[in-house]
Amino acid sequence: MKRIYFDYNATTPVHAEVANFVKPFFHELFGNPSSLHWAGREIRGYYDKAKEQVAGLIKAEPHEIVFTSSGTEGDNHAIKGVAYAKRDQGKHIITSTIEHPGVLNVCKYLESKGYDVTYLPVDGNGQVHPEDVKRAIRKDTILITIMYANNETGTLLPVREIGEIARASDVLFHSDMVQAIGKIDIDVKALSVDLASFSGHKVYAPKGVGALYMREGLDIDNLIHGGHQEEGRRAGTENMIGIAAFGKACEIVGDEIEEENRRMEYLRKRLLEGILRKVDLVRFNGDPVNRLPNTINLSFEFVEAESLLIALDLNGIAVSSGSACSSGSTEPSHVLLAMDIPAELCQSAIRLSLGRGNTEEDVDYALSVIPGVVDRLRQMSPFYKK
Ligand SMILES: *Cc1c(COP(=O)(O)O)cnc(C)c1O
Repeated sequence: MKRIYFDYNATTPVHAEVANFVKPFFHELFGNPSSLHWAGREIRGYYDKAKEQVAGLIKAEPHEIVFTSSGTEGDNHAIKGVAYAKRDQGKHIITSTIEHPGVLNVCKYLESKGYDVTYLPVDGNGQVHPEDVKRAIRKDTILITIMYANNETGTLLPVREIGEIARASDVLFHSDMVQAIGKIDIDVKALSVDLASFSGHKVYAPKGVGALYMREGLDIDNLIHGGHQEEGRRAGTENMIGIAAFGKACEIVGDEIEEENRRMEYLRKRLLEGILRKVDLVRFNGDPVNRLPNTINLSFEFVEAESLLIALDLNGIAVSSGSACSSGSTEPSHVLLAMDIPAELCQSAIRLSLGRGNTEEDVDYALSVIPGVVDRLRQMSPFYKK
């Protein structure tokens, strides 16, 4: 059976060139970068190079990069780090209702510790309005944390405008850019962010490595205390395999970003237009203009997303549903609910996210499978009459 992967926003395979590049790190390049002898010095060079490569892709300086274990760790470090460091100045944080759990659940945790969090609403396209951010700022606001690209819908948020507002108001600004890196150009200086989180496994590096951009001069609390690694900002012996891979992946992805984006736009358009042509009662979720080139989120009326996911999986097609399965019951996506999409349409939403491994044949195969699968599921629905 064909195996087609349309879930690149969940994770990506390690790029073949990246996997090849890091092989020696399992063997001869085993040193600890903190060691002063030959084994340490040898590996230190690779560590420095990786910082340059990650910094290069987001237009930061290498020393502004802190390697982490994940995007989630970066989110935690940024938000808790600011919250703890600034607790005497204020305890108010502004975020949005459509953030990844790596941000939302940190904010909820801080609420339980006496912090006050404003969750800004979004419009029907999943957009946060910069004026709402401006209005929400108070004397005791210490941090704004708003994502760049939403992982479920692909909507791009007005981070540049929010950055300008934050800077003018002297409030620190963090952005979860895990879905943006490698998919669109990022210039952290032009966007006026103070902190930004990234993850390796969303850009063809392995799982277990990430990066936090920390603007020069920024002084926030550490999340992990111990040794002096990462210039004293994140303790623990460096994950050299992950770090070297992340660096290499950033270099490759950066070199090919324009060409790859054109390909993604083409494949996404072909897939989206094909589905809309062949299947009726489909709702497009997200911003039709300001969006990632690879992500499609659609609600298929009278179809349960989980059933569709399973039926597509039986045909070798991997997609994800908009809802998270928790304790046996499926909850509708908090992102789609925040966009005021009716609950039953949230339960019918699936995400197709494309990536480097996808071809036109993949898209055409999916287009040959999806209409029949959707029709069969609708025939089983007691509410569908046709
Ligand atoms: C995947 C993802 C994360 C979490 O990154 P991990 O490295 O898996 O912890 C955070 N934010 C967004 C928007 C994501 O898509």
